[in-house]
Amino acid sequence: MKIDQTTGLLDTAKYLPSPHCNERPSDIDMIVVHNISLPPAEFGTGWVEKFFCGKLDHSAHPYFETIKELKVSAHLFISRLGVITQFVPFQMRAWHAGVSGFDGKENCNDFSIGIELEGTDDSPYETIQYQKLADLIQILQKTYPAITRQRIVGHSDIAPGRKTDPGPSFDWRYLDCVLATCSA
Ligand SMILES: [Zn+2]
Repeated sequence: MKIDQTTGLLDTAKYLPSPHCNERPSDIDMIVVHNISLPPAEFGTGWVEKFFCGKLDHSAHPYFETIKELKVSAHLFISRLGVITQFVPFQMRAWHAGVSGFDGKENCNDFSIGIELEGTDDSPYETIQYQKLADLIQILQKTYPAITRQRIVGHSDIAPGRKTDPGPSFDWRYLDCVLATCSA
């Protein structure tokens, strides 16, 4: 797994370009971990990928009507099976954090990479998702050394009171164990 510095794309990820992105005003120095599933708590439906590409069929499920105005994206999505999809090149700003702040700076989209895990706040994540996330973190830290471990956080850490993901089901200590042993 490696990043093509010219295109800003991972060589091993499936690339589905999202229109929900624009130029970054700042250098990359942070990773934000999220969860998503569409419809909520249903996995492997293919709707998340369509949602991030602005191609959700709003009539397909009642929940989709409630999110039809949202224009959001993430750089990366890790499915329950560990399949990685990229939607936005790393040098571009994806729209995943919303109103947010960390370490004295607001608008975390400006300087972060957003990684979505397929899941919910209260269902345990798959081991393969931790492994893929750890692989991604190691590759991203090599490319963007300003991403220190303290700057790998959850959406709930940068938008407290507004966002709860990746939720209590995300085991940060287990992630650190996987990071300590993996060699991507
Ligand atoms: Zn989130």
